Amino acid sequence: MNRFTYLALGVGALAIPGFVDSTYYMRLINWALIVAVLAFALNIIFGYAGQISLGHLSFYGIGAYAAGILMVDYGMSFWLALLIAMLVTAAIGVLVGLPALRLRDFYLAVATLGFAVIVHVLLGRWIALTGGQTGLISIPRPYVLGFELFEDHHFYYFSLVLFLAAFWFTDLISRSAYGRNLRAIRENENAARSLGVNISGHKLLAFAFSTALAGAAGAGYATLNGYIHPNSFTAGHSILFLAVLVIAGLGSHLGAILAGVLTVIVPEMLRSLGDYQLWGYSVVLILVLYFLPRGIAGLISDIVLRVFHLRGSTATDAIEVGPDELEPIARSGFGAPSRFVQGGANTSAPFLNVVQVSKSFGGLMAVSDLSMRVSSGEVVGLIGPNGAGKSTAINLITGVLAPTSGKVDLGHERISGLRPDKVVRKGVARTFQTPQLFEDLTVLENVLVGMNGRRGLARLVARLLPFPAYRREEADAKREAIALLQSLDLARLKYEKAANVPFGQRRLVEIARALATRPKILLLDEPAAGLNDNEARQLKTILRDLAAAGIGVLLVEHKMSLVMEVCDRIVVLNFGQNLSEGTPAEVSRDEAVREAYLGRVG
Ligand code: ADP
Ligand code: MG
Repeated sequence: MNRFTYLALGVGALAIPGFVDSTYYMRLINWALIVAVLAFALNIIFGYAGQISLGHLSFYGIGAYAAGILMVDYGMSFWLALLIAMLVTAAIGVLVGLPALRLRDFYLAVATLGFAVIVHVLLGRWIALTGGQTGLISIPRPYVLGFELFEDHHFYYFSLVLFLAAFWFTDLISRSAYGRNLRAIRENENAARSLGVNISGHKLLAFAFSTALAGAAGAGYATLNGYIHPNSFTAGHSILFLAVLVIAGLGSHLGAILAGVLTVIVPEMLRSLGDYQLWGYSVVLILVLYFLPRGIAGLISDIVLRVFHLRGSTATDAIEVGPDELEPIARSGFGAPSRFVQGGANTSAPFLNVVQVSKSFGGLMAVSDLSMRVSSGEVVGLIGPNGAGKSTAINLITGVLAPTSGKVDLGHERISGLRPDKVVRKGVARTFQTPQLFEDLTVLENVLVGMNGRRGLARLVARLLPFPAYRREEADAKREAIALLQSLDLARLKYEKAANVPFGQRRLVEIARALATRPKILLLDEPAAGLNDNEARQLKTILRDLAAAGIGVLLVEHKMSLVMEVCDRIVVLNFGQNLSEGTPAEVSRDEAVREAYLGRVG
C-alpha cells in the first residue's frame, strides 16, 4: 500500500463517528478497537514467540481493575492510571513469564490457566480492593484538554489512537531483528540458543511487552464501559479469546483486527444459540483449523495476493540494502580465502582446547577423558562408530551439556560452564546432526538470526526504534547475510521458506547460519550425511576455504573419503575414549582403529 492509501484510510477512519449516529454501534466499534489491542498483545507472546498464554484476559482484567481503582478510589486522571496499569500488568506479566522459561507448550498452558483462575478468584474475593461481586462502578471517562470523552463518538478518537499505537508497536516488533528472534524461538529454541540468542531475555521481554499492552487494553475497556465485574475476566474467556484469535489469524495484524471485530459481533450473532454458543465456537474453530490453518486473515491475504498477482513478502524483504545487493559478491573468487569473514583476529591464533572431559549419563560414560585441540585454520576430524560419543562431545564443547569433569578453553578463556548462547558469542559455532532450521523463516532470515546473535538484547530493543542508524545496521546485516549466502551458492534460495529447501541444501543453510555468527571455531556434526557426491565435493571445497580463512573446523563425519581428503588431523573415538590420533595416513594405518572402526565400516 502506498502513502495515499494509508492517508485515505486514515481520513476515512477518523470520519466514522460523523456517519455512525447510533450510540449502540459506536459503542461496539470502540469495543472492537480495544479488543483488537488485546489481540495485538496476544500476538506478541503467542503469535510471534509461540508461548501459549491462557491468561491474557486476566492481564486485561488486571489492567482494567488497576486503572479503575486508581481513578475511582484515588481520583487519579485516566492518563496516569493508564500508565500505572500498564506498568503493574507488565510487572505481573514478567512474574508469570518466569515459569515460561522452564515450561513449554502444554505445561505453560496449564500454568497460565492456573494464573487465570487465581486472578478471577482474587477479583471476586478481595472485596476491599475490587468491590468483589458488586464490581467496580462509576469509572469515569478520560479528559482531553479539559474535555471529557463522555459521548461514545468522542471516545472513539481515544480508542482509535490506542489501537493505532498498538498496531504501530507490534508492527515495529514484527519487522525488527528482535521480532525475528522471537519467531526463531517459536520455531526452534535450541537452534536459536546455539546462534547466541538469549532465550530467557527475549521471552521475558515479550511477556512484558505483551502484558503491558493487554493492561492498556483493559484500562481502555474499564473507562469505555464505566463498570467492570470479575466475571468478565475468567479463564474461560481467555480460552475463548485465544480461539477467536486463531480463527481470525494468529500472528497477523489483519488477524488481530478481525479478532476484535469477531469478539464484538459473533456473540450478537450467536445469541440465538443460547447455551449452545460454546458449541458454535468449537465447531467453527475445528473447521477453521482444518481448512484454514492461517485463519480468516490468511485466506484474505491469499486472495488479495492472487487477485493482484503479488508475491507474499516478509518484513525482511522491506529492508532496503541498495543496489549492491545485486552484485555477485566474491562469487568469482570461489575458493579464495577471503570469502568467509572470521570474527577473531588471526594473529592471536585462537584454539579450542578440550582437556580430559568426561560425561556420564547415569551409569553410561558417553565421553570419557577426552582431550583434543583445534587450532585456527585447521580441519580436525572426529570419527568413531555410532554411539562413540561424538555428538556428546560437541554438546559438551558448546555448553548444551555440562561436563561431569574436565574443562574446555578457547584460547585462554574457560568456556565450559557457559550457556550455549554465551559459548557461540565467544566464537564457537555448531551445526546439528539433524539440521535444525527455523522452518517458517526464509533462508535469509535464518542467516540473519545467526548474524544478530552477537548483538545484545539491549541493542536489539534499541533497534526497534525506526532511527536511520538502526535501519542502516539492519541493512548492513542483510547485505552481509546475502553475501554469505552467495559465497555458499545459496543466494537464489534466500527468499524461500526453510521448510521448502531441498535436503542437500539444508545442511549448507545451517552452515551459513553458523558462519553468520563469525565463529573462530566451527563444529560440524555429520555435515555430509545424505549429500550426493556433487554436494559432498562442494562441501569439501567449503571446508578447505573455511580453514584458509583462519577458522578452525571440527568435522564429525562418517563419509571416510571426505574425512581422509579434507582433514589435517583425525581424532578417533571409541566408547567415549580417545582411541587414536594423527594425520589421515597415520590413523588409517593404526591397527586398533582398523579393528574398531574402519574395518567394520568397510
Ligand atoms: P555419536 O554421536 O558418536 O553417535 P552420541 O554422542 O550421540 O554418539 O552418544 C554417545 C552415547 O551417549 C550413546 O550411547 C547415547 O545413547 C548416549 N547418550 C547421548 N545423549 C544422551 C542423553 N541425553 N541421555 C542419555 N544418554 C545419552
Ligand atoms: Mg552423533
